[in-house]
Amino acid sequence: MIIGLTGGIASGKSTVSEMLIDLGAKVVDADAVAREIVLPGEPALEAIASLFGQALLQEDGSLNRSALGAIVFKDANALRDLEAITHPAIRKRMQERIHRYAEQDPKQLVVGDVPLLFETKQEHLYEGILVVYVPAKLQIERLMKRNGMTQEEAKRRVSLQLDIEEKRKRGNWIIDNSGSLDDTKKQVLQFWESQVRERP
Ligand code: ADP
Repeated sequence: MIIGLTGGIASGKSTVSEMLIDLGAKVVDADAVAREIVLPGEPALEAIASLFGQALLQEDGSLNRSALGAIVFKDANALRDLEAITHPAIRKRMQERIHRYAEQDPKQLVVGDVPLLFETKQEHLYEGILVVYVPAKLQIERLMKRNGMTQEEAKRRVSLQLDIEEKRKRGNWIIDNSGSLDDTKKQVLQFWESQVRERP
């Protein structure tokens, strides 16, 4: 079974993803793939360098992320151009990997961990979506604590994403991560037992 895993920033996606890995799932992480597709030798890196200038490449051929960040941070058109290169490359690499896992063992749970899954309209790529939910207030608290952010900055980051209540509505399965880690683990186990282990 191929599912998407999503939620809001700091709602607990990585936490739940690790629990699923412990149970035997294969997880393909969109953030990790996003870093991978701009490594030296990758076509997306070449496309970025020809669009934004070879000066974005460091001596060893790797991408100068902060220089690129500085360009797209204040220029919405540049950001759109960058995403037109990176998003399809990320999606393609993820789908290749997901389907390779699924072919290796059709019974295994293969998970695409995609923070902006709904925002980027990727629901159709998965058999169902597992949403890791906490109320926005707790999301802000955990984000402040994890990233050492001010409340204002955490609120701003949260507000850039689709409302977590809306994500909860759109999910096929919900893990409520507002309690203890043990509580979350129980829900993950229940999901596993009802959706994965019981499958013919
Ligand atoms: P995401 O991957 O969605 O950004 P994380 O899994 O990194 O979220 O969780 C955000 C932060 O909250 C982390 O610092 C994590 O350790 C903490 N956290 C996650 N789940 C819980 C929980 N049930 N109770 C307390 N803290 C939690």
